[in-house]
Amino acid sequence: MQAVLLEEFQEPLTVQDVERPEPEPDGAVAEVIGCGICRSDWHCWQGDWDWFGYRPDPPHVLGHEPTGRIVSVGEDVENVEEGQEVAIPFNFACGNCDLCRNGRENICENHIGLGFMNQAPGAFAEEVHIPNADLNAVPLPDGIDAESAAGMGCRFMTSFHAMAHRAPVSAGDDVVIHGCGGIGLSAVHIANALGGNVIGVDLMDEKLDRAEDLGAVATVNAQEVDDPAKAVRDITDGGADVSADALGIATTCQNAVNSLRKGGTHVQIGLTTSEEEGMVSLPTDEFVAKEIDFKGSLGLQPSRYSEMLDMVESSKLDPTALVEDTVDIHQVPDELAAMSDYNTVGIPVCNEFSN
Ligand SMILES: [Zn+2]
Ligand SMILES: [Zn+2]
Repeated sequence: MQAVLLEEFQEPLTVQDVERPEPEPDGAVAEVIGCGICRSDWHCWQGDWDWFGYRPDPPHVLGHEPTGRIVSVGEDVENVEEGQEVAIPFNFACGNCDLCRNGRENICENHIGLGFMNQAPGAFAEEVHIPNADLNAVPLPDGIDAESAAGMGCRFMTSFHAMAHRAPVSAGDDVVIHGCGGIGLSAVHIANALGGNVIGVDLMDEKLDRAEDLGAVATVNAQEVDDPAKAVRDITDGGADVSADALGIATTCQNAVNSLRKGGTHVQIGLTTSEEEGMVSLPTDEFVAKEIDFKGSLGLQPSRYSEMLDMVESSKLDPTALVEDTVDIHQVPDELAAMSDYNTVGIPVCNEFSN
């Protein structure tokens, strides 16, 4: 079958023939229907994130935001069936560790990152393997087909967890999102649906316009002000209740923290780049003086997908609003290459794998 292959870090990606996956006893194989193209794929391709365990030995198939239709299941699988349309979280979990048993499968002790680790070849491919499928394949409700769910990949579901569970955003909260790429725009849309007054911050007017379309009540172009954090504090009359760094560079992280009011909560969604290697200096005394909470957010538990899916089914959330364009598998390498200069808007989705 065809797949987008990482053969050497930072060298051009190619589409190649690879072997079709066979289901492990507890696994299932899905025909991929859609797979979002994400800055995280770009980081993986660059060879970033070895400090995070997301640096696979090449050759490796990329892609971590799939929806699909189950085509085969292993002998031990009980709940997932052939023909079922599923969302596939990138944060594969074991189901047996303490964290899994306590409903925190997204940070499972035996976490496997789909498309980021050699144990889980990715989903820019005609078919993808889902380990421990009874847990890690999330059946879609009748009202949502896999085609339209394809915008619900890591950026959307990660933002849902960050805004709905980790922050959590409640009615009337001032919420500032720093970085309005795919994950940031998803966070704007979701925080708005949860009742927040959302402020988007970015360097590009085009992204800020999209943020307004998705419900932001105000935006700040960080290039046009001296201090974006102060601009947010002015707009919110003292600071935001919730801030998020949806990009993962030192500047956005620091600006996000500095945007908060006393008692505010920062949610770190973006992973850092090869610049920071996971280390960002922060105004720690402010954490004390203002009693600021700093939280991390990773993926979304499969067991809590139903909350997000319910909001999609009732049209409170619309992941298709984030989908910028659809491409075929041969265009994926170019889409990822275009991310090198940060000017892609929204979420591109690959939805044609076998042509
Ligand atoms: Zn686990
Ligand atoms: Zn992603």
